[in-house]
Amino acid sequence: MKDVSKYFDGGNTVANYRLNLEVDDGEFLVMLGPSGCGKTTALRLIAGLEQPSEGAIYFGDERVDGRSPSDRNVAMVFQNYALYPHMTVAQNIGYPLKVRGVPPDNRDRKIEEVTELLHIEDQVDKKPGALSGGQRQRVALARAIIREPSVFLLDEPLSNLDAKLRQEMRIELKRLQNELDITTVYVTHNQEEAMGMADTVAVMNQGTIQQLAPPLELYERPRTAWVARFIGSPPMNLFRGTRRNGSIDIGEAGTVELDGVMSEEAAVEAEGGGRGQDDASAASVLTTDARGDVELGVRPEDLGVSTTRPTSGNAIEGTVDTVEPMGEYILVNVSVNDQIVNAKMSDGLVSRGDRIYLTFDDDDAYLYDDNGELVA
Ligand code: ATP
Repeated sequence: MKDVSKYFDGGNTVANYRLNLEVDDGEFLVMLGPSGCGKTTALRLIAGLEQPSEGAIYFGDERVDGRSPSDRNVAMVFQNYALYPHMTVAQNIGYPLKVRGVPPDNRDRKIEEVTELLHIEDQVDKKPGALSGGQRQRVALARAIIREPSVFLLDEPLSNLDAKLRQEMRIELKRLQNELDITTVYVTHNQEEAMGMADTVAVMNQGTIQQLAPPLELYERPRTAWVARFIGSPPMNLFRGTRRNGSIDIGEAGTVELDGVMSEEAAVEAEGGGRGQDDASAASVLTTDARGDVELGVRPEDLGVSTTRPTSGNAIEGTVDTVEPMGEYILVNVSVNDQIVNAKMSDGLVSRGDRIYLTFDDDDAYLYDDNGELVA
C-alpha cells in the first residue's frame, strides 16, 4: 500500500490516512488496533471490496487498485464465515473451484487435500448446521485456501470462538500459514493473537500505522506512548512528570534520579552530539540539559514493591488501592498522585491503604517526550 487513504461521508470520516505498508511474500502480517482504527477498511482495500480515495495498491509490481476482487486472486475469511447451509462441507469447500469450471475429479482431489490439512476429512458429508463453531471455521478456511490465493485475508476470524478453541485455532492457523507459505494479512484487536501469530505487527490507531515491528520488538521498544499503553497485559505504566536536567519530578510521589550518572561512553557521544537514540538509556538522556513534560514508562513486571523507602535506586511513592490474585502472579494496583499504576508481584504482602514504594532499574525505564515519542 502506497500512501493509501480512504475517506467516507464525503471526507468527513477518515478510515485510513496515508498508509504505507509492504508485506513480503509468505509473511504473516497482523493489523492490530482498537475498534474503529481502520483495520477492516485497510483489509477491504487490499481485497478490492473498497477502492482507495488516494494512493495505490500493488501485488508485486502490478497495480491492483481499481480491479475487482475476483481479478486479484485474494481469499478473505470473515468473523461470520458464511457457509451455504444447504450444501455439504465438501460442496461448500469445492464451490470456488466449481465456479471456476474445475472438473469434478480435480475438485475432489483438492477437497481431499485441504480437508486433510485442516483435519475435517471426517466431516465432509455433513451440513454446516451439524458442525461446531470451530469446525465451521475450519470449513471456511478450507474454502478460502482451496483456490490457492496469492493473498490470504482474515478479518477477526476467531472472535466467535470460545477461549480454548481460539487458542487451538491460533496454533492451527499459524501451522497452516507456515506449511502453505502464503502471504497473509490478519486483522484483530486481540493482542495475544497478534503477538502469537505475526511475523510482523502493524499497530494501528486513527487510520494510521503507529508502529510496524516484529512482536518482541513491539514489546521491548514501543516507539510511542500510545503503543506503550496498548501493548502488554496490563500495559506499561506511564508516570507523568517534568524533566529537569538529571531527574524527573513526579509531583508528590517523588523525584526519579535514574542515578543520573552518564557512562563514560554515553558522555563522549553526547558531547559529540552523535548519540544514537536507539542506544541511549533513560539514565544517560536525563543528564542532558533538556527540560519539559515527559512520561516515564515502566512495565508492571519490572516494578518492585517495597514497604520501606529504599536507600538507593529509583522509588516512587504510592498507596495500595487493590490487590488482585491472578494465580500466576499478584496484581497490585497502586495510586500514585492521581493515577492508578499496576505492579506484578509474586507475593501479596501488601493490602489496601498501605503506603509503599515502587522500585525499578534504570534499564527498565522508558522515556517519552511531550509529543509521546520515545526518547530513550
Ligand atoms: P472494528 O474493529 O470495530 O471492526 P476497524 O478498526 O476495523 O474497527 P473500520 O471498520 O475500518 O475499523 O472503520 C474505520 C472508520 O471508518 C470508522 O470510523 C467507521 O465508522 C468508518 N467506516 C467504515 N466503513 C464505512 C462505510 N462504509 N461508510 C462510512 N464509514 C465507514
